[in-house]
Amino acid sequence: MEKVGINIKFNKPYITGKEIEYINDVLKLEHVSGNGVYTKKCQNYFQDKYGIKKALLTTSCTDALEMCAILAGIKPGDEVILPSFTFVSTAIAFLRQGAILKFVDSRYDHPGMDENLIEDSISENTKAIVVVHYAGVACNMEKIGKIAQKYNLIVIEDAAQAIESKYRDKYLGSIGDLGAFSFHETKNISSGEGGMLVVNNDKFVERAEIIWEKGTNRAKFFRGEIDKYGWVDIGSSFLPSEIIAAYLWAQLENVDIIQEKRLKAWNIYNSMLEKVSNQYDIKMPYIPNYATNNGHMFYLIFNSLKQRTSIIEYLKSFGIRAVFHYQSLHKSNYWINNNSQGNLSSRKLKMSDHYSDCLLRLPLYADLNEEYIDYIVNSIENAFERVMK
Ligand SMILES: *Cc1c(COP(=O)(O)O)cnc(C)c1O
Repeated sequence: MEKVGINIKFNKPYITGKEIEYINDVLKLEHVSGNGVYTKKCQNYFQDKYGIKKALLTTSCTDALEMCAILAGIKPGDEVILPSFTFVSTAIAFLRQGAILKFVDSRYDHPGMDENLIEDSISENTKAIVVVHYAGVACNMEKIGKIAQKYNLIVIEDAAQAIESKYRDKYLGSIGDLGAFSFHETKNISSGEGGMLVVNNDKFVERAEIIWEKGTNRAKFFRGEIDKYGWVDIGSSFLPSEIIAAYLWAQLENVDIIQEKRLKAWNIYNSMLEKVSNQYDIKMPYIPNYATNNGHMFYLIFNSLKQRTSIIEYLKSFGIRAVFHYQSLHKSNYWINNNSQGNLSSRKLKMSDHYSDCLLRLPLYADLNEEYIDYIVNSIENAFERVMK
């Protein structure tokens, strides 16, 4: 069954064909810097469809998260609650503002943060809860919202992986006070690098625009609301050029096609792998009834690091790139070497460490065809037989 010369990548950017046309249009319009017509088209997509008050295009999701940390008013000594099983950006955006990070474990049935453990981590210094919708699957936003209300905390959604996904009838990113999306090459909708800050709480809207424009009220000036602009706050150059926005618009305009393709691949994996994963007691993605699936990621959860490592090696020998994911942040070198914050490296976050060791992501991209999926599934069955007997 091994196919000679086959090479299935983990991810492959999807090109709609319109990207170059829209970039050419930008050149014709002679507005290549940020905040032009394509930036507005992208921002309006989120504002109109998701019901977000203010969306601002950024150069990355990391940037958008940094803006969240500034807007949330995080200062040295403030505590921020976040999962340990996440991308490093979720943490550094807040650490840079001086936050003390309080890592919370993942759920037993899903890599997302366990909402039942949040309250234990809250102190009088807690300022914000940062949720990560892992694999585009919603955290329990009702429960988290109630906790935030009870302790007067800001809720920030790291929706980097969560485009088009919902918690009940609400789009992810539209629920917390603030949120951030990613358009990195590895995400469903991409501009190579790129992100979006989304603001749902009125009180952050005006300041968000100022921080986005290097601490100036330039955006207001361009709308003709003031007659000159100047330096009014801190900020940075968080906005990308229209070239990026044009590329992104080509993708957003085709979001339905891209989502349909990804979901189709996801569903084929799900049905084809069900039997064999039951047979070997391997877990597949769990989607709570309040969450939707946006086809961002298909993963398997093995029972040990050793099992997973062998499977990765077998798949590699079959020409298939399957990869593991986050390593618990509370166990990272940086955290252990710089954690004068005292509380944590010794603490066990059992599920987070389990997913670090045992979760394996399978190739998934819009153009992954059925023939490839068939081959991948066959290879997995084959590898299971050899590794797990
Ligand atoms: C991809 C990702 C980010 C970072 O996105 P960039 O656009 O690359 O900065 C942050 N958080 C999570 C959960 C991600 O998956």
